[in-house]
Amino acid sequence: MTDEVSLNVMKCLQSGKYSGDGNYCHTSEKKLTAMHQAYKVLLTNSGTAALELAALLIDASPGDEVILPSFTFTSSANCILTAGLKPVFCDIDPKTMNIDVNDAVSKVTSKTKAIMPVHYAGVACDMDPLLAYCHDKSIAILEDAAQGIGAKWKDRYLGTIGDLGAMSFHDTKNIHCGEGGALFSNNEKYDERAQIIREKGTNRSQFLRGQVDKYTWMEKGSSYVLAEPLAAMLEIQLDYVDQVNAKRADKYCRYFDELKPLEQKGILSLPVIPEYASSNYHIFHIILKDQPSRNSLMAHLRSQQIGATFHYIPLHSAPAGLALGYKPQDLPLTEMYAHRLLRLPLYPDLSFEQQDKILQEIYVWAKTL
Ligand SMILES: *Cc1c(COP(=O)(O)O)cnc(C)c1O
Repeated sequence: MTDEVSLNVMKCLQSGKYSGDGNYCHTSEKKLTAMHQAYKVLLTNSGTAALELAALLIDASPGDEVILPSFTFTSSANCILTAGLKPVFCDIDPKTMNIDVNDAVSKVTSKTKAIMPVHYAGVACDMDPLLAYCHDKSIAILEDAAQGIGAKWKDRYLGTIGDLGAMSFHDTKNIHCGEGGALFSNNEKYDERAQIIREKGTNRSQFLRGQVDKYTWMEKGSSYVLAEPLAAMLEIQLDYVDQVNAKRADKYCRYFDELKPLEQKGILSLPVIPEYASSNYHIFHIILKDQPSRNSLMAHLRSQQIGATFHYIPLHSAPAGLALGYKPQDLPLTEMYAHRLLRLPLYPDLSFEQQDKILQEIYVWAKTL
C-alpha cells in the first residue's frame, strides 16, 4: 500500500494543483459515497473540522443545547462551543462506553437541538431508541463517527445513520492521511450550505462546477477543505479499509480469547460488541476493578516497554467542563469507568510475538494480585 500511496501523492504533486476540492478530493469523495451508500460526503481537513461544520449546519440559535457523552475527545464538545451552542453532558453505558440513551433523553429541554452519539472504538451506539426519540421531537442526530471507518450499525455504516456524521482520517485512526476528515450529509437540506461553509462562506464549489461565473461571500464560513496531496494519500487508503480492519480484527479477537480466563476470575472485564454492531476494531480496551489496579497494570506494562494507555479524562470533569459548572459526581458511571479503562496496543502490524509478550506480561501482573 505504501508504494501505491507514494505514487499517487507524487502524481498529485506533479499536477501542480494542490488546493482543495480538486480531482483527488472528488475521487475520494466518490469512493466514500459509494462505499457508504451515503447521500453526500465532503472531505474536510480534519474530523474536528467535520464536527464544526456539522454543528454550524444544525438549525440552532445561540444558547441552544446539544447533548453528548462526557466520555469522548475534546472536539466533540468544542464544535458545539465554537458554534455558540451549549454542550450538555450525559452518562455512558459502561458495557460499550457509548452514550446512555436514557440518560441523554432525561437531559432534553426545550432548547435541545441535537444529540451527538459518539461511536466509541468503532462500535455503534444503540441507535434504535435514539432515532425513534429524535424523530418524534425533531431533534437532529449528529454522529461523531470519527473512529468509525468501515464499521456498521445493523447494515448501515456509521456516519450515515443520523442527520449528519463526522469521520476522521487522522494518523491515529484505522486509515488516514495524516490530518483529514469527512462530513456525511444524510439529508438534502444540509449539503448546499455545507459546501459554502467549508469554502470560507463562498460558493466556490458551485463556481468550480461551472454553475456560477464568479464566486462570492454567501454566509458565515471557515476553511475546512482538504488539500489535494492529502486527498491523494487518502484515495488509495480507502481501497484498503476492509483489509486493514480484518488485520485489526485478528489481534482484537486474540486479546479477547486469551484474556477470557482473567475475566472469569473477576480480574478484568472485556469489551462488549452488541449484536447490532459490526466493529472496525479501532480500540481494544479492558476495564480493571478500580483505578489503582488500572494504574498498577499500566505501570507494569510500561516497565516492559509496552505502550498501554488510557483515555479520556471525562470532559465534564476536565478544567473546561468544571468551568461550565459541572462536578465530577454529576456523571457517576463516566467518572468511575474512565478511571478503570486501559487500552492495549492494537495496530495491523502488531506481530504475533509482540502480542504474546503483552499477554504474558498481563498474566505476570495478574499473578501478583
Ligand atoms: C479523532 C477524534 C476526533 C477528531 O478528529 P481529528 O481528525 O483528529 O480532528 C473527534 N472525535 C473523536 C471521538 C475522535 O476519536
